[in-house]
Amino acid sequence: MTAQALKPAAAAAHECRLFIAGRWTAGAGDDWLPIVNPATEAPIGRHAVATAADLDEALDAAAAGFRIWRDWAPQARSDVLRKAAALIRERLEVLAATLTAEQGKPIEQARMEIGNCARGFEWAAEEGRRAYGRVIPANVPNLTWLATREPIGPVAAFTPWNFPASQAAAKIGSALAAGCSMVLKGPEDAPSPAAGLVQALADAGLPPGVLNLVLGHPPQISAHLIASPVIRKISFTGSVPVGKQLAAMAAAEMKPATMELGGHSPVLVFGDVDPVALARTLVQGKYRNAGQVCVSPTRFYVEQSAYDAFVETFVEAAKSIVVGDGTDPRTQMGPLAHDRRLEAIGALIEETRAEGATIRAGGERLGNRGYFYAPTVVTDAPEDARILREEPFGPVAVIAPFTDRDEVIARANGTPYGLAAYAFTRSHETAAFVGRALEAGMVGVNTFAIGGPEAPFGGVKDSGFGREGGMEGLSAYLVTKMLAQTPG
Ligand code: NAD
Repeated sequence: MTAQALKPAAAAAHECRLFIAGRWTAGAGDDWLPIVNPATEAPIGRHAVATAADLDEALDAAAAGFRIWRDWAPQARSDVLRKAAALIRERLEVLAATLTAEQGKPIEQARMEIGNCARGFEWAAEEGRRAYGRVIPANVPNLTWLATREPIGPVAAFTPWNFPASQAAAKIGSALAAGCSMVLKGPEDAPSPAAGLVQALADAGLPPGVLNLVLGHPPQISAHLIASPVIRKISFTGSVPVGKQLAAMAAAEMKPATMELGGHSPVLVFGDVDPVALARTLVQGKYRNAGQVCVSPTRFYVEQSAYDAFVETFVEAAKSIVVGDGTDPRTQMGPLAHDRRLEAIGALIEETRAEGATIRAGGERLGNRGYFYAPTVVTDAPEDARILREEPFGPVAVIAPFTDRDEVIARANGTPYGLAAYAFTRSHETAAFVGRALEAGMVGVNTFAIGGPEAPFGGVKDSGFGREGGMEGLSAYLVTKMLAQTPG
């Protein structure tokens, strides 16, 4: 497999164009922004910047694409998604290398992410054939009532840079399986993996206009797309503040939205577990993708009896993580994805230090080239410290002790977030209790494995609304129509 297969979207030079009406284009403005490798800070390519005219063209294409795609049989749509999944698997090495170069994660994690895109398309291909409606017994003779489910229409989707391929795949797979068309704004920091997915779908026979990719200035693009009468549904993954802005814009247009926003996931470690073995395992989950994961475990509450042993082991394990360029197979944690994140994490840790917390590991940038930040462990943070109130979105674990079950639930639930929460215990009774008591869209008991194409993914409270994945993921792109008929 050579980079040739990705041409012209994401070839070796990482020149990422816009994809509008089935064509790769530099855009009307021929305006470009650089793509930077976060491990080296070297510019490794460039991406096109959409103008208002490009966005209008993408909207026209999505409108035309929808009229065609909604009438394809679900089986035919399924075939395209399956074929695209096969192409993604064939191109996995090139796509993974591109992902690591642009986003920084270790190559093995990049391979897993690309593999998950193929799995996601396959799940959507199956699920799209099951958009069942129902026959409702009518209240008079000779009257038929049918509840049918139709694709909602052209979708405006916005996906972020932390999982630049799989976040796009989750939205694309379900929307296309449901019969919707889409204008996708990909992540400007790492755009080529999403372009690779678009290319795979085009190569698999997706009609022009059904999926369009735009890049550029996010606020301009979202304002333009959400206001357009063509767009019937919004789906966004990103931060809470931006999510609130886009949700307000969608509400003003009376458009349904799916909002996958940030989290600040609590982890409750009860005293009946082996704190040493567990700390070693949990460290792996904490620093995956340098902690830039919306469901990353961030606040570890450990029962007092297990606290010292847990902290000691966790700190040692965090210090032993191999940080480096993601292309090196020995690397366990890559750089942060861009300079904004490095700055944000640096400022947060300085503030945490000033608030009186103890930095037990890390707490500093590594080297002076590349956006590397050391795996960091914080203890003794005051309960009102910013790090316990705001999502850190980086390689930072805060650990604190607890003594009382109700009190720790109150602390775990005491932020505006409600995305994921975790608990580790050997007690069935405690497991059942925390499963009910934790305010989160997803709760992992004795596991961090809460996501997959088959499972509904999403939050409560400020973490957003709507679900991706599972049958809920498909439903997000369908609308129910009540059809009443008589023989005439
Ligand atoms: P940010 O909030 O500026 O951007 C986050 C994402 O939203 C980016 O992909 C960006 O392109 C997009 N975006 C920003 N403004 C937009 C707008 N007006 N319209 C449409 N899209 C817009 O922050 P950032 O520095 O890129 O990332 C840091 C924060 O983003 C973190 O605190 C984290 O909460 C959040 N984030 C969340 C996820 C997630 O999976 N939920 C993923 C990435 C980033």
